[in-house]
Amino acid sequence: MKRIFATLCLIGIVVSSCKSQNNNTNNMEEKKAHYSNTDTSKLVKPEEEWKKLLSTEVYRVAREKGTERPYSSKFESSKEIGTYYCAVCGNPLFKSDTKFESGCGWPSFYETISKTSIIYKPDSSHGMQRTEVECGRCNSHLGHVFNDGPPPTGLRYCINGVVLDFKKAEEARKKFEEKH
Ligand SMILES: [Zn+2]
Repeated sequence: MKRIFATLCLIGIVVSSCKSQNNNTNNMEEKKAHYSNTDTSKLVKPEEEWKKLLSTEVYRVAREKGTERPYSSKFESSKEIGTYYCAVCGNPLFKSDTKFESGCGWPSFYETISKTSIIYKPDSSHGMQRTEVECGRCNSHLGHVFNDGPPPTGLRYCINGVVLDFKKAEEARKKFEEKH
């Protein structure tokens, strides 16, 4: 009798752990359902929904116009070849060959991938006149753009690394794999 009870308990544990695993997978799929590197359609969601979908830090920067600590992003000094996407929705934003070392403490670029990558908004917060940049697809706050960048554009897009996703270029990845 004891053995039967123990077996039943074991089955119960296995079934419930499987169930929770399924729930996690569903949540992950739900989280990424809006994310796409190719879909250019506008993405509009109520803030409560973004809060559920995004991590605390991404939500604070992307939806509450927060700023990450300078020099805290791994992308700040990264020289890897590839493409930077919006971490919230997957919209392509910058190519690594337009990235430069500005010394400001945040990943900096001089040109966007396309005109639809970004939306520009005047920002007079903190007693400064600046131009805020938002993702062109999901309207998440990314950072600011300034007129002191290098040629050919003379622009400096100063972007919070926490709202960037990076994907290595295919060729660079192959070369890397050949070497290692
Ligand atoms: Zn976006």
